[in-house]
Amino acid sequence: LRFSARKRHLICMLRLKKQRRFTYPKCPSGIRSLQFYLTPPIENISLIEFESFAVDRLKLLKVVENLGVSMIKGTALYNQKLEAELKTLQFPYHALLENDYDRRRKDHISHFILRLAYCQTEELRRWFIQQELDLFRYRFTQLSEELTKRFLAYVNLAYDSVSTWVSMRGHERSLHKDGKNIKTSGPLLITSISTFHIQVPFSDSVDLVRVKRVYFYGGYAYVPQQDFLVILLNNYRTRLSKALAITARSLPIIQTDERLQPLLSHLSHAYVGPDYSIEKNIGKISLEQIDALSVKSFPPCMRQLHKALRENHHLRHGGRMQYGLFLKGIGKLDADKFDKGYAYNIRHSYGKEGKRTDYTPFSCMKIIMSNPPGQGDYHGCPFRHSDPELLKQKLQSYKIPPTGISQILDLVKGMHYQVACQKYFELTHDVSDIGFSLNHPNQYFVESQQLLGGVKEMKKEQRQPENSQPKYSNQKSVTTNSTLSSSNAPEEMELEGLEDYFAED
Ligand code: SF4
Repeated sequence: LRFSARKRHLICMLRLKKQRRFTYPKCPSGIRSLQFYLTPPIENISLIEFESFAVDRLKLLKVVENLGVSMIKGTALYNQKLEAELKTLQFPYHALLENDYDRRRKDHISHFILRLAYCQTEELRRWFIQQELDLFRYRFTQLSEELTKRFLAYVNLAYDSVSTWVSMRGHERSLHKDGKNIKTSGPLLITSISTFHIQVPFSDSVDLVRVKRVYFYGGYAYVPQQDFLVILLNNYRTRLSKALAITARSLPIIQTDERLQPLLSHLSHAYVGPDYSIEKNIGKISLEQIDALSVKSFPPCMRQLHKALRENHHLRHGGRMQYGLFLKGIGKLDADKFDKGYAYNIRHSYGKEGKRTDYTPFSCMKIIMSNPPGQGDYHGCPFRHSDPELLKQKLQSYKIPPTGISQILDLVKGMHYQVACQKYFELTHDVSDIGFSLNHPNQYFVESQQLLGGVKEMKKEQRQPENSQPKYSNQKSVTTNSTLSSSNAPEEMELEGLEDYFAED
């Protein structure tokens, strides 16, 4: 991978120097697996490696996101799962390992590649920063005290730590240092009394001041040792956010590179799971089956499209593509017929014939990040594109219990759309842990069918009595045995029949 001299100058993070060995930012040995990514890598790298590193980091960040919303961060189980994922994806998982050069190289390069892909919009930036911060938090907490000090020195945050003790009189707590009382005012909400405080400039401790967790003296804030991570994360967030803004300014130049541009724009919508475009189990489709399946095994995006199709007898372009490719992916539309017939017509209608178009079923990221629905459209992801009030009504009509609805709405508020969809899966399938990370509507369908068909088992939900109403009580025709493969429904509909439902406006 090579750039012109001008590009090399402007995109310092991808500067290429022939045969030059990769160098890490100068830092004390033993902690290179943890860094603020202050210095971009300088190395020759193949496009294949470029893409595979980026995809692996994306997988890792997806896991970080999933764990972050389904578990309490920092618990033993959370750490254990994250460490296992780091090992599987070949990223550094232990700060003390000295012989993991390849892992650290991958960690360093992949971070900078995703910066390029995820600096493009505010939403992407926010998601990327959040996951990187959570990853950093885990790694930092794995450091020994000695390595912590060395890391702080490396990132120029070598604050003084002071040996202290706290005395209490009535509602007042006083902080003492070197035998002197350095603070005695007002009740503080500090619950655990640390004998080791870190002395930081006042301006670095604003978040902790708000929750009354610091003492002040002489222009310094004294932060309990256990709260110091908040300050560190804020510092990292500020640096990363600035770095992303600077990277975004270089984007127009990067986008002129015909090798990088498609890779980077693909990465920000990237789907990192199995290919759902090839389904061997091709058969005829039955309208009866689809109605039932749309209720019990379709994700909300496809359920909404199917409903719109049944009510309006047509879908607009965005919906036809999203829903048509999904049906093709679940193997109930003949792929060749779809591509040659239906998709060909679409290409013609929209003047795209002759262009190379991707006819693989859309992943969640693609649906969430591109082509937002307009007035009269039904495509998109309901968790991302529906107004919260509308989403709430939709979930109520799907018979989701109120507690489940508020959990889903909380996840949506935090922009964890796929995790909200996982929660919807759990609630509609009566399981407490789906045991997979949702990335694709077709994955949703396959997992649902496996679960309902008894091929796969998931942990059952311990439901409260008031929530134990049977699911889909208004859909009496739905049974757990009515999977596509086992249906003998009499009214089978040929492909042409289904196409009628996709009729043009
Ligand atoms: Fe569909 Fe994915 Fe949104 Fe679920 S998260 S509704 S599968 S796009």
